[in-house]
Amino acid sequence: PAPLGPPHVALLSSPGMGHVAPLVELARRLHDAHGFTATLLTYASSDSAAQRALLASLPPGVGAASLPPVPLADLPAGAAIETLLSVEAQRSVPALTAALADLGARTNLVAFVADLFGADTLRAARGAGVPGYLFFPSNLLTLSLMLHLPRLDAENPAGEFRDRPDPVRLPGCVPVPGADVLQPLQDRASDAYRWMVHHGARYRDAAGVLVNTFDAAEPGAAAVLRQPEPWRPPVYPIGPVIRQPEQQQQADPTGCMDWLDAQPDRSVLFVSFGSGGALPRAQMEELARGLALSGERFLWVVRSPTDAAASSNPGESYYDGSRSANDPLSSLPAGFVEETTKAAAGRVVPSWAPQARVLGHRATAAMLTHCGWNSALESMANGVPMIAWPLYAEQRQNAVLLCEEARVALRPRVRCPDGMVLADDIAEVVREMVHGEKGAAARAKVAELQEAATRGLQPGGVSYETLAHVVAQWTTKGVLPTDQ
Ligand code: UDP
Repeated sequence: PAPLGPPHVALLSSPGMGHVAPLVELARRLHDAHGFTATLLTYASSDSAAQRALLASLPPGVGAASLPPVPLADLPAGAAIETLLSVEAQRSVPALTAALADLGARTNLVAFVADLFGADTLRAARGAGVPGYLFFPSNLLTLSLMLHLPRLDAENPAGEFRDRPDPVRLPGCVPVPGADVLQPLQDRASDAYRWMVHHGARYRDAAGVLVNTFDAAEPGAAAVLRQPEPWRPPVYPIGPVIRQPEQQQQADPTGCMDWLDAQPDRSVLFVSFGSGGALPRAQMEELARGLALSGERFLWVVRSPTDAAASSNPGESYYDGSRSANDPLSSLPAGFVEETTKAAAGRVVPSWAPQARVLGHRATAAMLTHCGWNSALESMANGVPMIAWPLYAEQRQNAVLLCEEARVALRPRVRCPDGMVLADDIAEVVREMVHGEKGAAARAKVAELQEAATRGLQPGGVSYETLAHVVAQWTTKGVLPTDQ
């Protein structure tokens, strides 16, 4: 018999702060609002100072444990991040099975939740006799793509997405031009592509998929995916699962919060490319000139350029978001830091800013973002409109969603065939965002979404009640089989 005590859930996070952070918040929510205890499992490879700080903030009742390291040295040098994450997950199944058996013996374990690269780990839950759910940290558009991927792959066995004449149309979702589809799907011959198709097929083994999005951000997709379908698991939009204001005591070694305190209300453009994003040096210089040219206030989290020796591969900085080459500011055009500081218009900080606090600050007017989904959710939850500057992963399709479906983001004009955005066009989109009609429309729309997101997370709200429904299934024996 299962031990008595509060219901317990085990959550396994893929490496990367963008994966660990939302699962920490989900564990907190299950604890605070639904009376659960939880164990957050991470991989040994993902250990970093930033992650340790995050795990140290867990409430009592939520424990953390690291799976033992698995050998990955046999993988080819330069293997894609998707390959590393997928192989690490598969090779961790024995250790995970043991960890879940141990939790099953010690706690009232009722469910196991893995995230987007963890579909192969769901089978570890069987031994412990609990259902295996997925937590999908991106949106319904990307989940839908993953679920339909085995079919899309089979339908078009030779061609690349970017060569399709028509956009990819998924039921209820905004159409996505082939070139904007998920980056690892852009080369069929790659291991990363094969792994994504594999995961898409495996997602069907999940008892359900919790998704970090909210209905108002993707109304069309939510209407479709909330309907049960025999060929896929039930889909539960429960977001935004992001840090709440009282959890935003992030350290501010760069002093940017003090600087924001001295700025007028809604006057500052926050420029950030997530935990791993960086630009080529020439693009970085164009951005610096464009920001200066706009005449608007800005706070820019600067990373060393991609063509600097220390960070040529976005995957390299993936496991430790706070890392960058020694002095990223030295890559800015000569005199830029001095001039912007002198004019009091801009502030540059190296590598990392307390983003959740910046977005909640009254002085922040808009965010220029790489469209990582956590950043997009944080921006929407704080009513901050965006300038979309996608880099990799699913960011280009997120940009399509944010600009064309949610309509909370603007895009700079791209005139160069190589995708370089010129300083004039950067200045133009920044001014449009702060003073123009399109900026005003995005700001009004994002205020609506902020309201919807806030309401949805209160008892009675759509995301809150969706999670409550899942929780009821976990804790009510006898309901589970019909739902799987
Ligand atoms: N983040 C931060 N400070 C930074 C950059 C990023 O606090 O300087 C946080 C941000 O608030 C978000 C996460 O790191 O929660 C980035 O996740 P996202 O999905 O946006 O992008 P990724 O890093 O996975 O590309």
